Amino acid sequence: MQTIYWQNELSDLATYEQPILPYAYGRSYGDSCLNENGISLDLTHLRRFISFDQVTGLLRCEAGVSLAEILDIFVPRGWFLPVTPGTKFVSVGGAIANDIHGKNHHRSGTFGCHVTCFELLRSNGQRLTCSPDQNSELFRATIGGLGLTGIILWAEFRLKPIVNPYIDMDHIRFSSLDEFFEISAESDQDFEYTMSWVDLFIGGQNLCRGIFMRGNHNQSQTLASKPTKKRLPLALPINLPSFTLNTITVKAFNELYYHAQVRKRVHKTMPYDPFFYPLDSIHDWYRMYGKRGFLQYQFVIPFEHAREAMRETLGRIRHSGEGSFLTVLKTFGDIPSPGVLSFPRPGLTLALDFAYGGQKTLDLLNELDTIIMQTRGALYPAKDARMSAQSFQTFYPQWKQFAEYIDPHFSSSFWRRVTAATQANQKCRGPQPSAGVWGVPT
Ligand SMILES: Cc1cc2nc3c(=O)[nH]c(=O)nc-3n(C[C@H](O)[C@H](O)[C@H](O)COP(=O)(O)OP(=O)(O)OC[C@H]3O[C@@H](n4cnc5c(N)ncnc54)[C@H](O)[C@@H]3O)c2cc1C
Repeated sequence: MQTIYWQNELSDLATYEQPILPYAYGRSYGDSCLNENGISLDLTHLRRFISFDQVTGLLRCEAGVSLAEILDIFVPRGWFLPVTPGTKFVSVGGAIANDIHGKNHHRSGTFGCHVTCFELLRSNGQRLTCSPDQNSELFRATIGGLGLTGIILWAEFRLKPIVNPYIDMDHIRFSSLDEFFEISAESDQDFEYTMSWVDLFIGGQNLCRGIFMRGNHNQSQTLASKPTKKRLPLALPINLPSFTLNTITVKAFNELYYHAQVRKRVHKTMPYDPFFYPLDSIHDWYRMYGKRGFLQYQFVIPFEHAREAMRETLGRIRHSGEGSFLTVLKTFGDIPSPGVLSFPRPGLTLALDFAYGGQKTLDLLNELDTIIMQTRGALYPAKDARMSAQSFQTFYPQWKQFAEYIDPHFSSSFWRRVTAATQANQKCRGPQPSAGVWGVPT
């Protein structure tokens, strides 16, 4: 891993013999931020703020600035992120490269929808300003472009005004997938943020049950001066034994969590931090999965197939005996993502995590891939470490169009995996131009 401290310190990228990949906080769950046998450029030191317009909310900063740093500085001044994922420890560059989504996708689309421009450094030394009007094709390829089109040096995007740092939030218990859809449809109108924790183990016609969470920024001036308490993070000091999370313990946890809320609906006003980032309060939370770790699996399926696909998916999961500990369900809205390869699209998205149990976990996920393919859905590359080249190319048929914009010196472990067959074919056809070496089809 090489660390870059200043924009003008970058050496000539074309002289590296191995493929290059930008790296930030490594919060991607799979190998899209990894570059085995290649060079990872740590860009988290590109962390200067460049400008802020107090009228329009336009913020320009270097790409290694984290969302946590932006919140620390701008929330007390009455500004909030346009879109935020479930952790604030991600960089602006990472947020663009994965075109991340948040609880407000139905209202605000992806992070990329709020980016007005950025500067991209290509390995031939060119520094290109990219925006919807300037180098617009590279702009669209870089948003959701998995770090493969060059290094984002700085970016400009729009923050949104808030009155105070608090969220008015409802927790609503639901007892079936149909009820989830009802609450979701009703909430999308009036609530900026929505998502649900779900229990997949109930079986029967109801398919799942859970807690629907929805919220809006509080509008009271009186709370503007009330400081939010800093949460002291807990830490998991050791890897828990692998058997800690199994179907029985997950079912028991789900039962407790679901019934912990006695009333059907609970309303609270709470600081933004625990609302958006509950996992950030437990350092090294992934240790609860034991030494073998876990695999995240997030898919989206179009609404027209949602019920049938959920029935099929949940049936397979239950049958496999693999338990997802933390399962999150949400609907994506129809605001188009600007990125060529962006994951979010209208439909139902489910994020699951499975303690890694070797081949049986992989077999289950391969089965789920088939269902997602049949329903014309897709998996999220930022949360994937195992999908096949065939699956990826089916989920993202536009990948060849995207590949034309990959920088010839850039690649990643993910990209080599999901284009493996193509690269093998290229080898059979004999030597290719250098653009092909790192997975760019020619
Ligand atoms: C607890 C948790 C919750 C999450 N919740 C969500 C969620 O709700 N929604 C969601 O969409 N995602 C979510 N994620 C995933 C996470 O938001 C993304 O993977 C994010 O992109 C990680 O950013 P990073 O800065 O850690 O980048 P890394 O993981 O280090 O890199 C991500 C990608 O960005 C590229 N990259 C990084 N910096 C640059 C740069 N300067 N120029 C060009 N490319 C660059 C890398 O090459 C790589 O392809 C979650 C992750 C965790 C751990």
